[in-house]
Amino acid sequence: MKRRAGGLMLALLLFVGSVNAGGPLRVTGPAATTPGQPFVWDTSSAIKYTVDGGPLSANPSGQTVIDNATGRSRVASMFQSWSSVPTAAISFSYAGVITAPGLSAGGDVKTIQDYNAVVGVCKNGTQNPVIFDADGSILKALGLSPFVIGFSGACKLDLQVGHIVSALIFMNGQFQDGVADHNTTNPEISADQFDEAITHEMGHFSGLDHSQINLDLYESGAVGNCDLDRLAGLPLMFPILFCQSRKSAGLPILAPDDVAWISKLYPASSYASNYGTISGFVFFQDGITALQGVNVIARRVDDPATPEDESKRIAVSVVSGFSFTGNPGQSISGTNTGGSSYGSRNPALIGYYEIPVPPGTYTIQTENIDSAFAGGSNVGPLVPPATTYAAAEFWHLYESAYDDPTVKDPVTVQAGQKISNINFILNQTTPMLNRFDQFEDGEVLLLPPHEPFLLRPSPAPWSLERAS
Ligand SMILES: [Zn+2]
Repeated sequence: MKRRAGGLMLALLLFVGSVNAGGPLRVTGPAATTPGQPFVWDTSSAIKYTVDGGPLSANPSGQTVIDNATGRSRVASMFQSWSSVPTAAISFSYAGVITAPGLSAGGDVKTIQDYNAVVGVCKNGTQNPVIFDADGSILKALGLSPFVIGFSGACKLDLQVGHIVSALIFMNGQFQDGVADHNTTNPEISADQFDEAITHEMGHFSGLDHSQINLDLYESGAVGNCDLDRLAGLPLMFPILFCQSRKSAGLPILAPDDVAWISKLYPASSYASNYGTISGFVFFQDGITALQGVNVIARRVDDPATPEDESKRIAVSVVSGFSFTGNPGQSISGTNTGGSSYGSRNPALIGYYEIPVPPGTYTIQTENIDSAFAGGSNVGPLVPPATTYAAAEFWHLYESAYDDPTVKDPVTVQAGQKISNINFILNQTTPMLNRFDQFEDGEVLLLPPHEPFLLRPSPAPWSLERAS
């Protein structure tokens, strides 16, 4: 069953260009000393953020519903979901109220003029602001849907070193104002759902892309009633939020995929003794031409001795070609000579994938990116994603273009071990006939149509939309 993306949206506004990768959000490009590396913060010290001085939420009569101190404390605790990952070395610290030219001394961001001033100090790299749009009026002034819960955006990048220099987070407090009217313009979600949505934005803020795991749960049409096994493995960085909050289900805020990737981007000293790596290449049926843009998932083999299904709960993914550019450019038309500023141009990386996993035994499988995950919900390096390969296939020892895609051979990974060349040859995937060099498949295979987001009244999933 196909399901339309829609409902309440969360936007990731990218102030500095386009996207990359399932795993890292952006990868360094031609201007970098080392191309093909995830953009990350310099974490030699805590990442300092400033916070709006006004209330997190106010009702339509202008009364404060969630005051500033409470809002600030919720922000601190959301950041802590990421900083408390034991195998990741990333931390955040509060650096006072937002200051910007023209903004009142109290730092309350209330108008579109205030917002623009705050974006200014973010773009010049001096602050990482967290903005409270208490009644949703700034969002409205930005021309965005009232169904956007929040968004994040990188303001400044160091393209040479590969660092995120500054970024911001925007929170739509109207979702917490105590008024629940999904049919008009004032939807409401629980505090846990709201905080998990903003924690997702903090994942983007930290450099993480969307992840697609347990897609069948989304496609089943589940809304707020997700089964625990699949919810446990559903990444917080999944493009659409449609389940009950993880907290209300008794689950940790971050899924194994989120924990693995924040650790991969910011490895603590304990990372090497807690993770191994599975890597390889995805090829078209010719077994030679590399295929970028297919989702690759490593799933723990279920332990029959436990009531839980580990194959649904413990899974980590990435998109093939995640470190290769989604747009290499071409000189034929004269309009896109250099292509994207992001991503490696090393053709050896076109079909390459690499997945950090906790030690254990895994099956590895490929699948298409869901066609709903275009635009703001993009997953992986191709924009829009490639969605129509016959890509659903497990890896086994004797991969060929004519094998049984359900046959799987498990792979066992020890801590610190790097298992490589787990290579896929996908069945029924003829490379495009009209490509004129191997770089071109990333471009030619951008398969339309690009499904527009439809707003759907409650109960609805809320999508995490990203506009570039
Ligand atoms: Zn997102």
